[in-house]
Amino acid sequence: MAEDSLAQRLLAGDKRALARAITLVESDDPAGWELVREVYPHTGRATVIGLTGAPGAGKSTLIGALVKSRRAAGREVAVLSIDPSSPFTHGALLGDRIRLTEHFLDPGVFIRSMASRGALGGLSEAALQAALLMDAAGKDDVFLETVGVGQAEVDIIDHADTIVLVLMPGSGDSIQALKAGIMEIPDVIVVNKADHPLTDTMVREIRGVLSLAPQRGWRVPIVKTEAVRAEGVEALVEQLEAHRVHIEAEGTLSERRRRNLRNEVLGLCTFRLRRGLEERLALDEDFTSLLDEVVARRLDPASAAKTILERFDAGEAA
Ligand code: GDP
Repeated sequence: MAEDSLAQRLLAGDKRALARAITLVESDDPAGWELVREVYPHTGRATVIGLTGAPGAGKSTLIGALVKSRRAAGREVAVLSIDPSSPFTHGALLGDRIRLTEHFLDPGVFIRSMASRGALGGLSEAALQAALLMDAAGKDDVFLETVGVGQAEVDIIDHADTIVLVLMPGSGDSIQALKAGIMEIPDVIVVNKADHPLTDTMVREIRGVLSLAPQRGWRVPIVKTEAVRAEGVEALVEQLEAHRVHIEAEGTLSERRRRNLRNEVLGLCTFRLRRGLEERLALDEDFTSLLDEVVARRLDPASAAKTILERFDAGEAA
């Protein structure tokens, strides 16, 4: 009953209910899963925008400016900042890092950061559940900010409808990553700190990389911003909206969401299978002796895995 009322408060847009709900999913509390199950039919409405880029590029400052712009347009906003490298949990809320302090008191803005890895099989699962909860709470725009370029961050950013890569002049790493195909081509590229003298050089370099990439229906715009002065932010908002219109018209939005949800379902299956397997093997003496064989180099790892899986298959068939 108590969780029922939490779901209702969440759906009504109650900030504290949303915060509590995210804590539940973050700590892998079964009540969190229950809650997501309940509110899930109310999701899918928010525009989810992912921002990625090296630390210091100005993502937080830019999000601060975007939040301001979206609020002025009468929209409700949520920001989820994912920082696996941070030693802090959500308690030490972004603090000095994110430049969103002026928005903390605005009831139409919800800000949260996530750094813990323990929950729901991984940070990315927890972050996705959190994003769903924000959506259910009636946020029109959900900004996912990821720091770093680990696999978890890539997974998370993949779940956005529109992906924005934030670069700053004079840092070639991300361009190298794009060139090498390590990083997928984003939907929008921002060159922030446009007050820097190397801005146009950077823009040219990016154009060069983009011209080598296979052309799809959408031409990736490069937007110059100076986030600290909110310069170029309206142009960015326009491009975000243009991308939205494009993916809706082309049907790629539903395609993308289907692909992302498929990945999420598979991700959860994988996690649960692994957990199940580990639980079953934890006290299994045959497994221990197989492992001894592998350690002694008498059996190779793949053959050991085969033996274990065959045993499970036989067990399930019986
Ligand atoms: P993040 O790590 O990507 O979130 O970057 P931050 O938003 O924390 O910004 C890093 C630093 O760059 C901060 O000191 C910002 O004040 C500064 N910064 C952000 N945008 C600009 C800009 O447009 N021009 C200049 N010169 N500095 C900026």
